[in-house]
Amino acid sequence: MRSELDLELVSLTKRYGDTVAVDAITHLFHAGTYACLLGPSGCGKSSTLRMIAGHESVTDGAILLGGRDISRLQPALRGTAMMFQSYALFPHLTVAENVAFGPRMRGVDAKTRARRAAEMLDLVEMTALSDRLPAQLSGGQQQRVALARALITEPQILLLDEPLSALDPFLRVRMRAELRKLQRKLQITFIHVTHGQDEALALADEIVVMNDAKIEQAGPTRDVFEAPATAFVARFLGSHNVIALPQGQIAIRADELRLRPAEGARLQGRITAVEYQGTHVALTASVAGNQDVTALLTDKDFFGAPKDVGEAVGLDWDARAARALEA
Ligand code: ADP
Ligand code: MG
Repeated sequence: MRSELDLELVSLTKRYGDTVAVDAITHLFHAGTYACLLGPSGCGKSSTLRMIAGHESVTDGAILLGGRDISRLQPALRGTAMMFQSYALFPHLTVAENVAFGPRMRGVDAKTRARRAAEMLDLVEMTALSDRLPAQLSGGQQQRVALARALITEPQILLLDEPLSALDPFLRVRMRAELRKLQRKLQITFIHVTHGQDEALALADEIVVMNDAKIEQAGPTRDVFEAPATAFVARFLGSHNVIALPQGQIAIRADELRLRPAEGARLQGRITAVEYQGTHVALTASVAGNQDVTALLTDKDFFGAPKDVGEAVGLDWDARAARALEA
């Protein structure tokens, strides 16, 4: 399939009455990228995705695919396909019939659509279950059928709205690896909405962090994680401390903090919690200004010199590890 076309959002805006759900966002998704739209509930992720798909009207701005304005085209003509959170399979149709449903509606002949459906089911490794009804499938299997049904339209862009949220944690981790594998194989653009930072980090070439209807920060996944621009991004990604110092506000990864004797350390405080996490130990201390700061220590470092709640402690870091945050 392989997409050749970049997708560009230009001052894209969605208002529902007085609610501004998406506020003039501008972003370029390069062809063939796995992108995650990441942000808390209500920040405008689904509205953005639905506007791209054409399931929601655009209030203002434009959506360009390969330079062509698709903002007002009907969904089937856009070169996009959406996989819904609920999968929305037809309960009375078999797996193969569900996948062939779109082509059937478009008047594709029976033989061609059966062949195409078989190809898609092969792609998602569901050939053996082609004749089952949706009720006879597990959550993960239903999701593969929904994927096959979206991909049969040969989209340039596959849009996925919280595709893993209905699965149990174990299956979620397995399915995300399969989504990534599928995207690599097809080389089309995936835009995957999630509120889970671990999911976004695991999957995405590029992360777009949204907050309150705006894009807070976007970029290659590691760049965003290594250098969060704002306190919101640092907190939302997790694994970072946001610390107010007299000079300003900084973010420091929990694993970049070192324990020191209190005297002479940059931060001094008292341990309020010690949490064993297997390979690591998370040690939280209350420091100047009543701030909680968490240091993630390897189990070897921690148990080499164990500490307990209530003990005084100093925390330090390499100057390179501190990221100045925008106010
Ligand atoms: P997210 O997917 O990030 O949780 P949404 O795009 O669903 O966010 O919603 C963004 C904002 O728009 C929220 O305040 C939500 O209540 C509002 N909203 C979403 N859909 C509608 C709608 N159909 N009518 C009115 N308000 C809506
Ligand atoms: Mg949503």
